[in-house]
Amino acid sequence: MERIEIRTKESTELIDITREVKGIVSSKRVDSGVCVIFTKHTTTGIIINEGEAGLKSDILTLLNELIPKGKGYLHDRIDNNAHSHLRAVVLGSSVTIPIEGGTLALGTWQSILFVECDGPRRREVCVVIIEG
Ligand code: ZN
Repeated sequence: MERIEIRTKESTELIDITREVKGIVSSKRVDSGVCVIFTKHTTTGIIINEGEAGLKSDILTLLNELIPKGKGYLHDRIDNNAHSHLRAVVLGSSVTIPIEGGTLALGTWQSILFVECDGPRRREVCVVIIEG
């Protein structure tokens, strides 16, 4: 298992980690298999989508509209970040991508995006490659 360390700068932020994951996959010299990318936190997500700047901003706007901060959530009584956890629930904590010909079989417009929902913080993403 490999790790990618991410230092986020904003409270909510999308960070493209495709290049880092591709680098790990190519270093393993696995021709065929799957790559699992997993975030170890309860207030972050991992998604696959287009990494275009406007769309990244639209995704953040959507999260903000779907799950606004401070709507009387019970968890806010403890540490005031229920919206961050709820956004992470919607996003999911891992993605699985096939490896084909030694590289990630991503579509032309697909990127791997790490989503910070409670930054800025130091974050860790695990990358596991299973040959097969
Ligand atoms: Zn919390």
